Amino acid sequence: MFADESSGYVYSRGKHPTVDILRQKLAALDGAEDALVFGSGAAAIFCSVIANVKAGDHIVSQRDPYSWAGKLFTDILPRFGIETSFVDGRDIGNFREALRSNTKLIYLESPNSKTFELQDLEAVAILAKPHGIITVCDNSYATPLYQQPVKLGIDLVLQSATKYINGHSDAVAGVLSGRAEMIRSIFLKEYNTIGSGVSPFTAWQLLRGLRTMPLRVERSVNTSRIIAENLKRHRAVEKIIFPADEAFAQRDLYNMQMKGAGGMFSVIMKAGSVSQMETFCESLQHVLIAVSWGGHESLVIPFCAGVERDAFEAENEAHRMVRIYCGLEDPEYLWNDIRQALERAFPA
Ligand SMILES: *Cc1c(COP(=O)(O)O)cnc(C)c1O
Repeated sequence: MFADESSGYVYSRGKHPTVDILRQKLAALDGAEDALVFGSGAAAIFCSVIANVKAGDHIVSQRDPYSWAGKLFTDILPRFGIETSFVDGRDIGNFREALRSNTKLIYLESPNSKTFELQDLEAVAILAKPHGIITVCDNSYATPLYQQPVKLGIDLVLQSATKYINGHSDAVAGVLSGRAEMIRSIFLKEYNTIGSGVSPFTAWQLLRGLRTMPLRVERSVNTSRIIAENLKRHRAVEKIIFPADEAFAQRDLYNMQMKGAGGMFSVIMKAGSVSQMETFCESLQHVLIAVSWGGHESLVIPFCAGVERDAFEAENEAHRMVRIYCGLEDPEYLWNDIRQALERAFPA
């Protein structure tokens, strides 16, 4: 009776009726056969990778993955004899060149959530398949509403459900979708061993979030378009990086594999000092400085917050970059706030 935990309710770390409903809905949304729901997006990342590699294997990752995915590749997996090569994922040739005879997994995040670089998902899947290499894609930014990597041939797709799926900044969860046999194998081994399944209460929060997700995402994206357009015209702004922007560098690929962008983009300011960046962010009255995104409230994160004060380099674009997530507030209310903060930090 306990031989196959994937078919019955034995213990809630594995299966639970509320979680099962959520799994079915999330798999359908991804266009996948099955899905697992985790206690965080980070757990979904961890599981998707360790389920497919062993000592001596090699991974190729796009160069700027989510920070905790990066930590897994650079700090944790090398302890177990697994090496990762990072490539500029904008060019399929870079993936081809990085492949070795022991490459077992290609890790993608398209677009990534800082510089919004895209990878050609279909081309990567075509490259990987004949070698038996598993492809994994973090789809948190676009959401399944705007991009379905499984349909482009990607084996496993994951998302932080903490972001748009829950949408209210009050739960942490993650999703991993793919073919039924692959998901079943992960469930029977890694999922139950790691023990980071979602709680039934959080599953209920996510089920509730799904009911308004399309409306929330649309609102967030439309507001982002308005704010990005206004920012582009402001004298303090050098450029914006936003997949939905006409001037986005990978516009053709965007049109080919995505139906839309998420409500988040990066701005490169014409700042000469770290204090100018600080003044801008700290002058915002209605937008918090915080990590995360996808909830009801707008958030900003200046990337110079991660560098030492005296290491700030005005020539370095990354040090002058702020990521802006637009939530569900009124666009004019948000723009008025952002504009007054710009005036303070960059007086005419
Ligand atoms: C937040 C995030 C994650 C991690 O998800 P958690 O739910 O916070 O563990 C992974 N990828 C991206 C792109 C994210 O934004």
